[in-house]
Amino acid sequence: MNEYITRVLNQLEKKYACEPEYLQAVREVLCSVEHLVEQHPEYEKLAILERMVEPERIISFRVPWVNDNGEVIVNRGFRVQFSSLIGPYKGGLRFHPTVNQSIMKFLGFEQIFKNALTGLPIGGGKGGSDFDPKGKSDSEIMRFCQSFMTELYRHIGHDVDVPAGDIGVGGREIGYLFGQYKRIRDAYEGGVLTGKSICYGGSLGRTEATGFGLVFFTREMLKTKGESFTGKTVTISGSGNVAIYACQKAQEYGANVVAMSDSNGCIYDKNGIDLSLVKQIKEVERGRIKDYLKKHPDAEYTERTSEDSPIWNIKTDIALPCATQNELTLNSAKKLVENGVLAVAEGANMPCTQEATDFFLEKGVLVGPAKAANAGGVATSAIEMSQNSMRYYYTFDEVIEKLDCIMVNIFNACKCNAEKYGCAGNYVAGANLAAFDKLAEAMKCQGIV
Ligand code: NDP
Repeated sequence: MNEYITRVLNQLEKKYACEPEYLQAVREVLCSVEHLVEQHPEYEKLAILERMVEPERIISFRVPWVNDNGEVIVNRGFRVQFSSLIGPYKGGLRFHPTVNQSIMKFLGFEQIFKNALTGLPIGGGKGGSDFDPKGKSDSEIMRFCQSFMTELYRHIGHDVDVPAGDIGVGGREIGYLFGQYKRIRDAYEGGVLTGKSICYGGSLGRTEATGFGLVFFTREMLKTKGESFTGKTVTISGSGNVAIYACQKAQEYGANVVAMSDSNGCIYDKNGIDLSLVKQIKEVERGRIKDYLKKHPDAEYTERTSEDSPIWNIKTDIALPCATQNELTLNSAKKLVENGVLAVAEGANMPCTQEATDFFLEKGVLVGPAKAANAGGVATSAIEMSQNSMRYYYTFDEVIEKLDCIMVNIFNACKCNAEKYGCAGNYVAGANLAAFDKLAEAMKCQGIV
């Protein structure tokens, strides 16, 4: 391994020993850009790596709110403004009890590369809270969002930092956050948040974008092997925003999606997932995936009992992990390969552990890395920002056509860079190389800042 990269990694491992997810994400990127770094000896003098891995700013704040029983609850809020090199900080907000600084930093770090790959003028950031929206009433969600924004508003703006949704933050939460921002600022700044409802400035196609984009990227990978989605078996972990729309597009392309999951377990329906029922359970009733059996008693449900999700034991051609980080372990990867998996594309951020990814690559499985494969969401958020600035809206078909074109461009950038640096077919390395090159060049242009 290149000495400069080794030194930076060693320093980070000492300094941030308590931030495993962040270290994992940095290690993956730095280890795959070795050839590029070697071609640029000036990077070391300019401290390109040190500056690339250190967030520009981390904001951490208290979020007090009152629950329906009148009790005062205090959560922690974060916004990691990672890089403004190529545009305003841009990235989602996650509300989940596991949120901590390491997870925020890993997500912010991934985001700068992802955003660079889209070709659009957006920097990278991420935020959220350890607040758990599960089981909360609408009024509790609203009061929490209002308190969260009462602190966050001073750090964001349409040319400064533009948050969006992520796990636990969908259209409802974005609406409450936007309402409070507008009230405090006393101005209508449509482009300050994305993922808004259509009725007040959202973009058609944003809800579908990450899942659809994931399937477009996978389609391009499959083409390189003369394959397509038609007639293929697909398993998709999660049953949230990304999973649902990945399922929809895969079904439209003629695939048989047989399994979906949530954090409790997975359902297997050999006849093909009834997606309108999953939407009803998850988007309307906010229930559990197990409820699927009430309408489809022939389907099977398997409870999750260990860190290895049961969904990856199901035989499939294409696996789309769309739930959360490190949900697909080496054990699961071995099971998938044993069952003949052809392609794995990451809808969630860093869902495959490093060992799982390495194993897939070693066995010749097509791997679509998250930074590239799930970039359709943020790309469409940037399209939402453009529409807000223009004060003019595209049709659904226009947005999806732009999204498809962006995903094809991202795939081609991954493919070309993998070939250029001697690792043809390795889209994980290709994505890192393409994005790193762009960001490092921007850093060189802008001086030591
Ligand atoms: P949602 O909140 O809509 O759905 C998340 C899904 O993942 C739920 O089914 C949830 O199950 C499951 N899940 C969450 N945490 C865990 C866990 N610890 N173990 C197992 N399952 C879990 O989120 P999204 O669909 O928006 O996001 C999913 C992933 O995609 C995340 O990694 C996110 O960062 C990434 N992503 C999202 C984008 C977007 O546009 N929304 C854009 C790019 C990436 P349960 O209900 O039981 O918690």
